[in-house]
Amino acid sequence: MQNGEKIDILSMPFEELSDALGEIGEKKFRAGQIFTWLHEKKVRSFSDMTNLSLALREKLEEKYFIPQLRIVRKLESKKDPTIKYLYELPDGNHVETVFMEYNHGNSICVSTQVGCKMGCTFCASTIAGFRRDLSAAEILSQIYRAEDESGRHADSIVLMGIGEPLDNYDNVVRFLTLVSDQRGRAQSLRHVSLSTCGIVPRIKQLMELKLGVTLSVSLHSPDNAHRSSIMPVNRRWDVNELIETCREYTEFTGRRISFEYAVICGVNDSDEDAAKLANLLKGLSCHINLIPVNSIKERDYRADRRSVEHFAAALEKRRMNVTVRRTLGADIDAACGQLRREYEI
Ligand code: SAH
Repeated sequence: MQNGEKIDILSMPFEELSDALGEIGEKKFRAGQIFTWLHEKKVRSFSDMTNLSLALREKLEEKYFIPQLRIVRKLESKKDPTIKYLYELPDGNHVETVFMEYNHGNSICVSTQVGCKMGCTFCASTIAGFRRDLSAAEILSQIYRAEDESGRHADSIVLMGIGEPLDNYDNVVRFLTLVSDQRGRAQSLRHVSLSTCGIVPRIKQLMELKLGVTLSVSLHSPDNAHRSSIMPVNRRWDVNELIETCREYTEFTGRRISFEYAVICGVNDSDEDAAKLANLLKGLSCHINLIPVNSIKERDYRADRRSVEHFAAALEKRRMNVTVRRTLGADIDAACGQLRREYEI
């Protein structure tokens, strides 16, 4: 991403930074120093990089910029230790990030795009349409700023906020490279989950990279006609093709897939749906995560505890591996997309 003529330095993986410094006549070891300032100490201006000469700092200032995310709202749940941040991006757009605490550690949910093109009927992120992709730096900074502000470290990262990560493939891969770099934040990619609505060719591309990230697939219905009616992406790559690709993914990577299933009363929670789902996923190394659908004001979808439990039991009876996701931050609309919409309207 360019800002006028300036280049976004925070989105540059180590080797790229090192080459770029070489080209302007700097010794390559400077890349290590600058990378540490950016990704370990997380400074927000070149003037804070105090072990660099003034001349180099000025040179960097001339050629590069560090994108800044400003926290414009912070909502803290009263029911649990969930915090939701609304960030303003350098161009005035907004995205949301949610910081959650679980027994097994802290987790942060980040956005990958401003809005979304995918059109899932139950999702608030897509209703206002798509504005633009986030840069790798803008995805990273959501984590850096939230950690800074909360004073807490996120053990795991989920790409499950606003946007479709595989529709912003290059920047997301760049982000994964940066966040896992041992010279920076050194995030284990085993503790990073990427959630997709099912862009099949990109799942295959990601698989080939063997990064070790956990793949979450938003399934929401085992039936083609029905899935197409709530998730337009299914018209392009249908359930069978998607599940076939998931089988390849687990065989190739040895990783279990997590299927997300938002339970919507009377829409996808019948016994027939449970039977079809169990049949579809038979023999696949996976786990089903049931989410009681979050009501959004534009749609008349709802979930109740009993129907979710009933659906879970129907799956368990068929020996499926099921959990019901805890609804954290329900009082602050922690499902991504809702706060941005309220703020921008
Ligand atoms: N585009 C990606 C990631 C963003 S959505 C994807 O589709 O996976 C993150 C998750 O929240 C997805 O599983 C999505 O289907 C789910 N989701 C969206 N709106 C929801 C709602 N109103 N209630 C419950 N889950 C929802």
